[in-house]
Order: sequence, then structure tokens, then C-alpha cells
Amino acid sequence: MANNPYLADFPILARKVNGHQLCYLDNAATSQKPQVVIDRINHYYTDENANIHRGTHTLAQQATQAYEAVRDHVQHFLNAASREEIVFTRSTTEGLNWLARQWGLSHLQAGDEIVISLLEHHSNLVPWQQVAKKTGAHLRYLAANQQGLIDLAAAEGIINARTKIVSITQVSNVLGSRQPIKQLTALAHEHGAVMIVDAAQSAPHMAIDVQDLDCDFMAFSAHKMLGPTGVGVLYGKQALLDDMSPEFYGGEMVEEVTEQSATFKQGALRFEAGTQNIAGVIAFGSALSYLQQVGFEQIENQDRQLVSYAWPRLQKLNGVQLYGSNDPSDHNGIISFNLDGLHPHDVATIFDDEGIAIRAGQHCAQPLLHYLSLSATCRASFYFYNTIEDVDRLLAAIVDTQHFFN
Ligand code: PLP
Repeated sequence: MANNPYLADFPILARKVNGHQLCYLDNAATSQKPQVVIDRINHYYTDENANIHRGTHTLAQQATQAYEAVRDHVQHFLNAASREEIVFTRSTTEGLNWLARQWGLSHLQAGDEIVISLLEHHSNLVPWQQVAKKTGAHLRYLAANQQGLIDLAAAEGIINARTKIVSITQVSNVLGSRQPIKQLTALAHEHGAVMIVDAAQSAPHMAIDVQDLDCDFMAFSAHKMLGPTGVGVLYGKQALLDDMSPEFYGGEMVEEVTEQSATFKQGALRFEAGTQNIAGVIAFGSALSYLQQVGFEQIENQDRQLVSYAWPRLQKLNGVQLYGSNDPSDHNGIISFNLDGLHPHDVATIFDDEGIAIRAGQHCAQPLLHYLSLSATCRASFYFYNTIEDVDRLLAAIVDTQHFFN
């Protein structure tokens, strides 16, 4: 086994795919899960299963404590000012849609402007298109340069007094570039706009301090950071959350209900109607503990090391097109590439025959691909359990694929 102390914690990485040892390079789509996270789900259903917030029996109280402890954990993970600023959702997509519907629809009117960037994933783009259509607001885009970076000077020309919402991805899921969120937040605030951060690709790879960024809302998904699918986090400054309506109404988010009206709980619980993904949230807590044990310095180092090893070797290969920054430290583990004359889907299929999992396609970012004049790319995305051997297999698979088709 390659010399990476974390590999052994991820049982799936020991399996074979198509007769080859799995080489998993699709981490930007979803990460693999360490045994402790799998065990935590198992333990919950074996030993602790009960509904939360309502029962007075022991199991219900223990499950409630375990679930609410993860809210505290996420608060500290993000350095949020209060636990009430942490709302559990199903995913980044859900959090962003809530914001679009519940914040956007009620705070925007015709003539207002929403600013996003050309780097956005569809889940931080299509909901804003819908809000713009319904309210008559104008959806404007910040462009990115060849390095995949939003130009702050250009942003100053676009974010203005009509801007009510700025919603930007912290790390591009196609190019891996990290955006100047703190500066964009300051610019948004200068004009009285709220700043939303899509942290789906950043939260797994870097330490985040929401108070330092000063963003108003942030959304991310547990499944990209060792946790289970079906769990996400929506962070919001408390005053803004208090000013937002819930997306769902029902059990557990109410105080008192009469035949004709209801009063609602304060804080995060107001947004968590009905039975939540209790096992998933609790296991997400184990994922966060594991990530914190590894440490974000180590995660960023490993991202940098793997891309720094891969990038010059990819550049030396004939017929390989690379996209995004030439600085391997601005890729956050993501490399998008194409092989001349070959469709990315064919490339990914040949790689799969060799047990190598990459993503091929438009990566839910069609406007970006269009802007880059590309129809699709191959994307290899690393996490801290990947190794130099994985990169060597990627490089060898590229050469094999080129030979296969030529
Ligand atoms: N935003 C970005 C930048 C992403 O990369 C993704 C998923 O790949 C999402 C949002 C959506 O995440 P989810 O599918 O977990 O809701």
C-alpha cells in the first residue's frame, strides 16, 4: 500500500474495480468515507435510534444530545458567533435554493441586481435565474480570467447600489481556483448587499472562519467532506436568519398551533421541520472530528503536493490541454484537462477500465464551459488520502488512452 497514513481508514479504497486497485480521483463529486463515519451510522441505528427534540425517554434524549452536539461542532468548525446560526439542510443545493426562494423572493424587486460569477455551479446559478424571472431583478455575472480568478477591479464596476445579493463560489469545481471572498464580501457590504458563499468545494479543503470572511450566508455539503450524503449546512448571520421565512412548515419548528395560526421556534430549529437526517448529522460530526485530526494545513499541503507533482508532468505530455491557473497551489486538488481529439467521456471510460475514477462532462457549470469555449472536460480531483502513485496511474492512463485511440 502506498505511503499515506490515512489510506487504511477508507475501506472502499482497498477494493478492485475492473480487476484493478481502485484509484479514486472524483473527490470533487463526493469524497470517500472513513471507517469511523461508517461505524458511527451503524452504531446510531444499532444502539441509539430515536426521534429527536420530542421524546422524554432516554434514547430520545441521547439522540437529541448527539444531534445538537454536532450543531455546536459545526459552529466551532466555522467560528460562527452562535449555534443558532447553523441550520442543517440536505445539501449545498438545498441551502442555496432556500436562500433564493426565502431571501431572494422577499427582498428583491424589479430593477434590483443579483451578482454571481461565471464560475458558478448550476446550484448557485439556476435558482438565481428563477428569482430574477419572478421578481424582475437583473442577474449579472462577474467574469473570471484565464487563471479562473474573479477580477476585483472588474467586480467594482459591477457591484453597485442596485446590487442586493452577491453569491459566489469560494472554490471553482471545474478549475479549482480560490476566489477572493473576503474582498468581495467587503465590496458587497459597501453597497448594502448580502454576501452568500457556496463553500461546497472549499469547506472540504480549507479552514473557514465565517466571522473573518464576514459573509452573511454560506452553504456546503457533508458528503464532499467525509460525511454521509443527505446532510448539508446553511450558515446565516442570526439577524438575517431571524428575518427569513422557513422553507418548510410542520412538526418541531412550531411553538404553538391553533386552528388558524401558528407561532414558530426561534433560531435554527425554525428551519428544521419534520424528522431530520439524524444519523447523517451525527455521523457528519465524526467526519468533522476526523478532518480536524488530519488538519487543514495537512490537507492543503497534500493538495498542493499532488497538483505540483501532476501539473508539470501533464504539461510535458503531448496532446494534453490543461485549464486554470499555472500555479499548482491554486487548484485545491482539482485538475481539469482534455486530450486532443478525444471526447472526455471516452477518456473516462478507458480510465475506468483501468480502475481509475474521474469525472467527465460539463461539471454542472455550463456557462463556464461555454465561456471557456469548451464542450466538456475531464476532471481529476484529489483529497488527502490520494497519493503520488495515484498521480502516476493518472499519467500512465493518459498515455495508454492516447495509444488506444491512435
Ligand atoms: N456548488 C459547488 C461549487 C459544487 O461543486 C457542488 C457539487 O458538486 C454543489 C454546489 C452542489 O452540491 P450538492 O450536490 O451536494 O448539493
